[in-house]
Amino acid sequence: MSDPNSACVFCKIFRREIVADEVLRTDDALVFRDLNPKAPVHLLVVPRRHADNLGDFVAMAESREVGDLFALASRAGREFAPGGYRVVVNEGLDGGQTVHHLHLHVLGGRRMSWPPG
Ligand code: AMP
Ligand code: ZN
Repeated sequence: MSDPNSACVFCKIFRREIVADEVLRTDDALVFRDLNPKAPVHLLVVPRRHADNLGDFVAMAESREVGDLFALASRAGREFAPGGYRVVVNEGLDGGQTVHHLHLHVLGGRRMSWPPG
């Protein structure tokens, strides 16, 4: 347990210690289906590099890495939800974050409502 991220569920998915329904993988990021989907298409776009949340990621990463993550979310959204999609990042308690490794939700396959709950 010397690696501080050894217990992180998304780091485990990267290492394939936990199986996920992967749909896209690049050198720096992974896209897989959410285990508890909130829409017919519910994908998670996850950087390889562990950061607890968006704020930590933008503080530690190159702006190119941040841009690449959004580019991958857009690629996944257009490919898997061609009718349109929503990208969501939850941070902190009020944001509703439950997994503390940055991830972008890509939701689609139905008409989204606004405002979110
Ligand atoms: P958030 O609440 O924004 O932190 O989102 C965490 C998301 O991760 C939730 O939608 C969970 O359903 C999803 N999740 C948690 N564990 C797994 C897993 N092992 N495989 C796929 N999705 C997961
Ligand atoms: Zn992690």
